[in-house]
Amino acid sequence: MKKKKVLPGEEVAVVEEFIAANGTYEENGKVYAAVFGDLELDHEEKTAMVKAEHPPVKLKPGDTVFGEITDVKISMAICEVISVEGEDRNITGDTNGTIHISKVSSGYTSEVGKEFRPSDIVRARVIQVKPSIQLTTVSPHLGVIKALCRRCRAPLKRKGNSLYCDACERTEYRKYADDYSDVDFTEFYKQKDTSE
Ligand SMILES: [Zn+2]
Repeated sequence: MKKKKVLPGEEVAVVEEFIAANGTYEENGKVYAAVFGDLELDHEEKTAMVKAEHPPVKLKPGDTVFGEITDVKISMAICEVISVEGEDRNITGDTNGTIHISKVSSGYTSEVGKEFRPSDIVRARVIQVKPSIQLTTVSPHLGVIKALCRRCRAPLKRKGNSLYCDACERTEYRKYADDYSDVDFTEFYKQKDTSE
């Protein structure tokens, strides 16, 4: 049985060959997909079916997202958007966002590298998707939610107003979210694994 992803309204067969079954409908001699999902053309039963699945999600302004900092420049951080908060669907289209120096925190930021490091996991909000994805972390609940020690790569713990590595007895600084260290990563990592 052949499998192919189809969109609602997409022509999937002609009635001479296949009968519309679950997830499809017939109109003017043609069979169309009624839902997004995998098309299944059964050549023995002569049926056309679409097994529904959730369509991938498209980023839009206002979305709260999780992402990984992949590069840090003086005036901006590059952030790969991995998932949208509250969504278990993969993201379609461009996922490469930037956080401009003016959108890091409500206070003054002299260098983005003092607030974010590559491999940091951040919660951010989408402020623009076209022509490029722009993100902000200006809000107490936005910012780094997981950071690793630059020296030993162990997760940093929150200590006072900074982050701390017990093993190296070192302090690091970040623009972290107010719930740093209390974030449930199970959903996030599930998402990351399936998108790769
Ligand atoms: Zn360390």
